[in-house]
Amino acid sequence: MKAYDGMYIGGHWRPAVGTGTIAVVNPADEQVIGHVPAGGAEDVDAAVRAARAAFPAWAATPPAERAARIGALRDVLAARMDEIAETVTAELGAPAQLASTVHAGLPVLVAGSYAELAASYSFEEQIGNSTVLLEPVGVVGAITPWNYPLHQIVAKVAPALAAGCTIVLKPAEDTPLTARLFAEAVHEAGLPAGVFNLVTGLGPVAGQALAEHPGVDLVSFTGSTAVGRQIGATAGAAVKRVALELGGKSANVILPSADLAKAVNVGIANVMSNSGQTCSAWTRMLVHTDQYDEAVELAAEAVAKYVPGERVGPLVNAEQQRRVRGYIEQGVAEGARLVAGGPEAPHPTGYFVAPTVFADVTPEMTIAQEEIFGPVVSILRYEDEDDALRIANGTVYGLAGAVWGERSEAVAFARRMDTGQVDINGGRFNPLAPFGGYKQSGIGRELGPHGLAEYLHTKSLQF
Ligand code: NAP
Ligand code: MG
Repeated sequence: MKAYDGMYIGGHWRPAVGTGTIAVVNPADEQVIGHVPAGGAEDVDAAVRAARAAFPAWAATPPAERAARIGALRDVLAARMDEIAETVTAELGAPAQLASTVHAGLPVLVAGSYAELAASYSFEEQIGNSTVLLEPVGVVGAITPWNYPLHQIVAKVAPALAAGCTIVLKPAEDTPLTARLFAEAVHEAGLPAGVFNLVTGLGPVAGQALAEHPGVDLVSFTGSTAVGRQIGATAGAAVKRVALELGGKSANVILPSADLAKAVNVGIANVMSNSGQTCSAWTRMLVHTDQYDEAVELAAEAVAKYVPGERVGPLVNAEQQRRVRGYIEQGVAEGARLVAGGPEAPHPTGYFVAPTVFADVTPEMTIAQEEIFGPVVSILRYEDEDDALRIANGTVYGLAGAVWGERSEAVAFARRMDTGQVDINGGRFNPLAPFGGYKQSGIGRELGPHGLAEYLHTKSLQF
């Protein structure tokens, strides 16, 4: 166990003002692996001042030079991938393979994409007799969740740096060690002091102080819809920019023309990855009534490969384990049929939940409406395409989704979905594609040029 001290503020590690600490727990064995300082309002204030002081010079740094710094950051992250993967495994419980390919690998890809975009993006445009300047918004308050600890940080920090903004980050209390590694990487990459600052702490204390700070020009939040709503209200009252990446309840729509086995197998894998703790996971599988029984059988076979403690890690903490098991109990109570898994914990220690598949789920059931954030798939039945569309669009969320079937049919269906991203026949992940939600899944987009635009505002000069 290790006591990590200090916050990364103004280019160096300095002690927190208060003496409170946060224990970091390994969710696979419930052992405390370290402590980090619990920052408060004074630490946030110091960090915002540092970011504010660094802003004019960073905003005025030519984009090519900003690109070079982001490129250096990408290289440090790439060089430290093993250490990052080990840290994510220790504090999130991610299996080693997932930790190295996704948790450590994806941020390298995203940082690289912003090194390129910073160099190539046009920060000026011509509209008739006007020249429109795209200028950095200012100081960014970034608040991130634990589910993809480094990706969620890089998806905010890299575009903010590319735009010329400076940043204060408040990472999730469950995964602060990955955030500390990121701050070390920023330092090693030679970013100017104060451009990036880290304050570890609790959401309602440090997070709230950051969202409310008058020196923050834009709050970028990823996490629950409940907290996002609060942050949106705070930002609204201050007439401050806000980006919200919230929950999801995405539909995996399998049309009769689909390769059923492939659609079911990929669909199950999509939800089991990261123990179901993915906001864009396709947690509702929609199958035509004629193929329903076959799909349920295929799903039960597919999920058997996901052994807790091997391919599937634990949930992040005891509270999430309790919540997810509660949802499984509620599914049973409301009449859904368990075909795999169930509420019993598969291991006596560690916050594991059994990979679970429900059949005979109807659209109004709680498990078909609320974000569970665990390894739980619901299979729903539809009669025809209009019925499928009603079910797919029938939640308050709209973050992602999938459609399987003959290509033009699948695209026609996807066009009618109220959601921000749709994978057609298992389409490949694109780190440049805009990611973000319709409806209560959020406001704004991350990744690629659309993600960069979130950190810019416009000034028009008329000639
Ligand atoms: P959360 O409470 O919304 O946490 C997200 C971030 O916001 C964390 O850094 C958190 O700090 C911070 N925060 C909490 N309360 C705050 C406040 N009043 N003001 C400012 N910041 C605040 O999410 P969670 O508790 O970790 O997870 C709960 C549920 O959220 C999950 O079950 C899932 O449904 C959803 N979720 C969604 C995503 C996503 O990617 N869309 C990611 C994670 C969770 P602390 O870590 O100290 O709480
Ligand atoms: Mg929380």
